[in-house]
Amino acid sequence: MKLAKLPNGDPEIFYTLQGEGVSTGAPAIFVRLSTCNLHCTWCDTPYTWNWEGTSWKTTRGEKFKKEDVIIEYSPDQVWEKLQNYPCQRLVITGGEPLIQQQELAQLISKLPLDWAIEVETNGTLIPHELPGDRGIQYNVSLKLVHSGNSETQALKPKSIQWFSDNETSYFKFVVASDADLESVQSLQKTYGILADRIILMPEGTSSSTLRTKLPDVAEWCIQHGYRLSDRLHVHIWGDERAK
Ligand code: SF4
Repeated sequence: MKLAKLPNGDPEIFYTLQGEGVSTGAPAIFVRLSTCNLHCTWCDTPYTWNWEGTSWKTTRGEKFKKEDVIIEYSPDQVWEKLQNYPCQRLVITGGEPLIQQQELAQLISKLPLDWAIEVETNGTLIPHELPGDRGIQYNVSLKLVHSGNSETQALKPKSIQWFSDNETSYFKFVVASDADLESVQSLQKTYGILADRIILMPEGTSSSTLRTKLPDVAEWCIQHGYRLSDRLHVHIWGDERAK
């Protein structure tokens, strides 16, 4: 499996609290996979895809050498690492983890049945190769126009419909404006997404910005029956990458 590599050479596997979404506050082991099929201008993990020699642009402007930021681990090696933590909740994040479904399925087959599994995804790929009877929670973060991706790249109708029909999928949206809210409503209507499985979050990489924006987002949630999520990790640790 291609994992993100930390500056110290280790794979990006860390134990913390889930910071957003329906499991906010739950202790969880995060495994960050490398590579992504989208190129969001404001991506906070550009080291998973923004390689030297490509024309992709981000607001941070940094480019990365693949060999500096990717490490190969077998599913067995990842499973060995996971057993070092006092926790049975695994969050697979990225990049876009569903690019590596085969390897992910091998890893999941090693986890005891009492482990909770969450997969963070941009919602462009259907997880056909992952077990359907494992209760995997999909945290689907569709990318809206402000991500810099074209609509055809970022919004794949068959895939969105699959996640909408799957009852353990939750759709998370960072919303900053009325236009963002309208995009969410339009997606909800087109794909019949249950309001209870839509989560709105304020935009911000500092605690003070989040606090300022939360009341408006809370109002939108109350009006439309959506869930509200804060971004707990930003309040506690700021915008830092795991060490
Ligand atoms: S989909 Fe996620 S990982 Fe990929 S570029 Fe966008 S924000 Fe970054």
